[in-house]
Amino acid sequence: QSGARVRRANSKVPQYLERGVDVKFSDVAGLGKIRLELEEIVKFFTLGEMYRRRGIKIPGGILLCGPPGVGKTLLAKAVAGEAGVNFFSISASQFVEIYVGVGASRVRALYQEAKENAPAVVFIDELDAVGRERGLIKGSGGQERDATLNQLLVCLDGFEGRGNVITIAATNRPDILDPALVRPGRFDRKIFIPKPSLIGRIEILKVHARKKPMADDVDYMAVASMTNGMVGAELANIIEIAAINMIRDGRSEITTDDLLQAAQIEERGMLDKKDRRPEMWKRLALNEAAMAIVAVNFPDLKNIEFITIAPRAGRELGYVRVKMDHIKFTKGMLSRQSLIDHITVQIAPRAADEIWFGENQLSTIWAETADNARSAARSFVLGGLSEKYHGLSNFWVADRINDIDLEAQRLLNNCYDRAKEILRRNKELMDVIVDQLVQKKSLTKQEFFRLVEEYGHVDQMPKNI
Ligand code: ADP
Repeated sequence: QSGARVRRANSKVPQYLERGVDVKFSDVAGLGKIRLELEEIVKFFTLGEMYRRRGIKIPGGILLCGPPGVGKTLLAKAVAGEAGVNFFSISASQFVEIYVGVGASRVRALYQEAKENAPAVVFIDELDAVGRERGLIKGSGGQERDATLNQLLVCLDGFEGRGNVITIAATNRPDILDPALVRPGRFDRKIFIPKPSLIGRIEILKVHARKKPMADDVDYMAVASMTNGMVGAELANIIEIAAINMIRDGRSEITTDDLLQAAQIEERGMLDKKDRRPEMWKRLALNEAAMAIVAVNFPDLKNIEFITIAPRAGRELGYVRVKMDHIKFTKGMLSRQSLIDHITVQIAPRAADEIWFGENQLSTIWAETADNARSAARSFVLGGLSEKYHGLSNFWVADRINDIDLEAQRLLNNCYDRAKEILRRNKELMDVIVDQLVQKKSLTKQEFFRLVEEYGHVDQMPKNI
């Protein structure tokens, strides 16, 4: 968090060096015995020469495993701080680039800088972004990632046993890492950092309270008891929120009440955030924006009331609420075109994912709506509504499941192409809405339609499929 990263054109100025890192083990609380393991790593720097003479193996890299906010970054900084060495950091998601070769050259630059400024700790956050098992992703995106990973392996091997540059990486998914990464001499030491226990939470609260004007009788146990499941980052937040509360009330000490209130606020915020990373918010926003933007092209579905990606009770993803009461029914059924439009809307998230992220980086967020689209398409054909098997009597022509599936497939493909066409023509609108959703989490009807008016290219009437 602290220490601005300096970027200049001059190659002599290290890009990845974090200046002013002044973290000590005493700033990291609630870790129990884990701290001993990290103190040992400090010794690789301070006693490296002695270790080497005695033939004690210095690890290639250390993998800190655990959920976001438990203090992995803080710990890596503390290792550098305690050893008095430079701290270089990068998030592996920065390695992953669309341009072939960029990721690999960043890895090389990072290690080159670290070597020139040794002794140093190199910290790689979100290692899984680049360290996923190779070959799982096909195509050029996969090739780029493989090249980056290979370069990282080369760099790790280059430092084996030297002990003047030690790599610490963080991940929440050690299980999906490429086996080559965890081979001896590479990330051969895994340290698991769990969420803090009750006592751990008390300790963390106290560490963050050190620099704040706390009342003498603050009941840390009470605060720790009601923050079960929270991590260090959230506990640090509670102290900050409590301090703001105090200042707002014109008082000079933070009380237990301030902390309890702050814990409630943090808890609510936590429910809002879950474990979502910025990337996840963007994917969710893309999902919902795609449905809304496609829907607004269709007369029966254009009445969009509300779009949200804020998690609600029982809902993992976001949703788009469409007011349906004006929908035209024919003979007690949704019109044929309405059904097709509906399928098109449900398949839109998949189309958006392909357009924005490419075939190589598809998420699975759209799986649920794509399933809806698939079963709706099948019902459509079974109900005798398709072109080929039109009318219920003709429906029996399709006596083989295969025929029905083929026809449903054809319908789905048409809907998919249509969704893609609409989204391509509304790229700018999509980008603006995704942006707004990520920022605000929800858009009202008015907000949505204002954007549609300004940036949208919307059909007045749907074309027949
Ligand atoms: P991670 O890298 O695991 O996502 P961070 O190290 O970035 O977590 O933690 C974010 C902030 O939360 C830290 O800068 C610190 O203020 C606070 N924090 C997290 N864990 C701890 C801890 N164990 N002790 C003290 N503070 C912590």
